[in-house]
Amino acid sequence: MSDLHTKIEFLKSVGPQRADLLKTELGVFTFGDLLMHFPFRYVDKTRFHKIRDSREEGANVQFKGTIRRMNLAGEGRKMRLIVKFKDDTGFIDLVFFKGVSWMQKKLIVGVEYVVYGKLSKFGSNVNIVHPEIEPVTQANLSEALSLEPVYPSTGKLEGKGLGTKGIMKLQKILHNRLKEIEMPETLPDYLMEKMRIPKRKTAMLDIHFPKDNETLKLAQNRLKFEELFFLQLRLLQIRSRRKHSIRGHVFEKVGENFTRFYNEKLEFELTGAQKRVIKEIRGDMGRGVHMNRLLQGDVGSGKTIVGLLSMLLALDNGYQACLMAPTEILAQQHYASITESLSGLGIQVGFLSGSVKGKKRKQLLQLVGEGVIQILIGTHALIEEWVEFYNIGLAIIDEQHRFGVIQRAKLWKKGIKAPPHILVMTATPIPRTLAMTLYGDLDVSVIDELPPGRKEITTLHKNENNRMRVFGFMREQIKMGRQVYVVYPLIEESDYEPLEDLNNLMEGYESISREFPPPEYQISIVHGRQKPADKDYEMQRFVKGETQIMVATTVIEVGVNVPNASVMVIENTERFGLSQLHQLRGRVGRGAEQSYCILMSSFKLSNDARTRIQTMCRTNNGFEIAEVDMNLRGAGNIEGTQQSGVISLRMADLAKDGRILQTAREIAMRILEDDPKLERPIHARLKAYLEAEKKGKSGWSRIS
Ligand code: ADP
Ligand code: MG
Repeated sequence: MSDLHTKIEFLKSVGPQRADLLKTELGVFTFGDLLMHFPFRYVDKTRFHKIRDSREEGANVQFKGTIRRMNLAGEGRKMRLIVKFKDDTGFIDLVFFKGVSWMQKKLIVGVEYVVYGKLSKFGSNVNIVHPEIEPVTQANLSEALSLEPVYPSTGKLEGKGLGTKGIMKLQKILHNRLKEIEMPETLPDYLMEKMRIPKRKTAMLDIHFPKDNETLKLAQNRLKFEELFFLQLRLLQIRSRRKHSIRGHVFEKVGENFTRFYNEKLEFELTGAQKRVIKEIRGDMGRGVHMNRLLQGDVGSGKTIVGLLSMLLALDNGYQACLMAPTEILAQQHYASITESLSGLGIQVGFLSGSVKGKKRKQLLQLVGEGVIQILIGTHALIEEWVEFYNIGLAIIDEQHRFGVIQRAKLWKKGIKAPPHILVMTATPIPRTLAMTLYGDLDVSVIDELPPGRKEITTLHKNENNRMRVFGFMREQIKMGRQVYVVYPLIEESDYEPLEDLNNLMEGYESISREFPPPEYQISIVHGRQKPADKDYEMQRFVKGETQIMVATTVIEVGVNVPNASVMVIENTERFGLSQLHQLRGRVGRGAEQSYCILMSSFKLSNDARTRIQTMCRTNNGFEIAEVDMNLRGAGNIEGTQQSGVISLRMADLAKDGRILQTAREIAMRILEDDPKLERPIHARLKAYLEAEKKGKSGWSRIS
């Protein structure tokens, strides 16, 4: 008797060399790991085709028949073996350029073979180049009629005979041994019945060698459900444990800061969504529960004010608050607008970033440590070790997608007696399925309503032929007193643009300068290679309306707010991702004017680029855009997923398996409500599995 923890070298035909490769290349150490190395697709060999009916170029076909004759054609490098193959409906040529003499020896005229391959066009005929060909035996006939698994492999593995076929052979050996191998069930019986999914062992066998499409589907459903269910169970357990074990600071009263600001300073009526979210936040913080909340809201939905009001609540209850932004520009903008909003209320606001140095920094830190500064606004610098608060009660992170879990944890530690309440604000709408997984341990609030009076941004797709008209349009808008952004791509996610991108930007800047000469027109330029002071100077000129055009790379992407800017021209649109385009577009449409986004691109576009551009022209809804983005790129490539478990999902695909995820989460929630510690006998398997997983023992351990 062996079990799934048996070392892979003990599998027949593996041996030490191949075992080492399996470990380093695929992370396969044990039988269980190999079993978890799932096929990524299947070749459908469930039926035999008829040669007569098989004419379509590119089609995958499987024939059963005999070889009538073989002959060599061509010379030297062009020499090839042509095999005349026949079934009961007709003839087809099988062509081999490689291994000619070996094939010639191996193949026997008159013997029955199964042939599999792709039809290619040859003159007016079709043939198959380098098909798979196997003699028909009693044993392999039923196997021939199957869904054949295709496994991920690597060049190194292929070199040792472990390409997809080689791995399939190993799986077969393992498969035949599995009858005698112990494989504990992980889900309660009632759940499997309810979900109508097979047992774990059945699913594990069928996923590699499914009898037909239906069995495959069942196995996939079972494994997807199991994967998502345990992920949710874990996340929800973390959340419930935190709620029960950590007491949060209690912000019970609404005091002078909040009320005075609300009554005297707030210039607009909050939207229904903003009010609802503030209620949710107050609900958390007023109860002594520790808040860990994600606030999602499209660009311009008014998250800042929600954050500010929450901070004032902290102040009213004698605590400090901080607001952390991902870039210097954005942090400064928050600082400027918040100090202005709060002017006259006697609230001390401080600013901290890498650029605040020396004596100034020392002074600031002292005031923060003494509690004189009540609100601290800044960049990553806020979470450095040397920042010590007097009593931080609320930490807000703006534009979460740039911050990881680690930063959240660092903020967490800034609390003296208890961790501060955490509010994460993101303008990157995340598809629901992704949010449930990425932030499954958080509570989620959504601002799904824009402030009144906003006009939908009109988005147009243009190319180089329209350049002059685009310039003309810019001129018109500027004449009406508006401002214009012209944005150039920047591939790398860093503060420094690659030189090539910078050149692009500079060329653009020059041509715009020619079209829009001074003194009538003034132009700002902002890019990552500028000194912060220069950047700030240029930015400020635009903010103050001294310049009408802002030429920039994506440094302006996050958060910059210039309500008078009504046109956004995006150059080389095809090089931007969807969520980035949406973010950029959000820089306009912030005032009451009709705003425009003009997407410039070259004529030739890939399918994906075309879909991205069409989506942008069709909708302004960030959540809809996020869904398309996830479908195009796959969940694992969405920003922010890298540090999470999402990327290591083996079976489930968040872009496709939303329904299963939803069900899994609901069931996990119900189970935990009923039995938070999974102590009831009926949940023994769940508990055992989670514990084994924690110890890293189960085959799924690498998920987290
Ligand atoms: P984001 O959610 O993208 O951070 P902001 O908080 O920057 O959006 O808000 C965008 C603009 O909308 C700001 O100028 C802000 O003052 C304004 N705003 C916010 N809420 C309202 C409201 N309820 N009514 C009118 N304007 C609002
Ligand atoms: Mg914002």
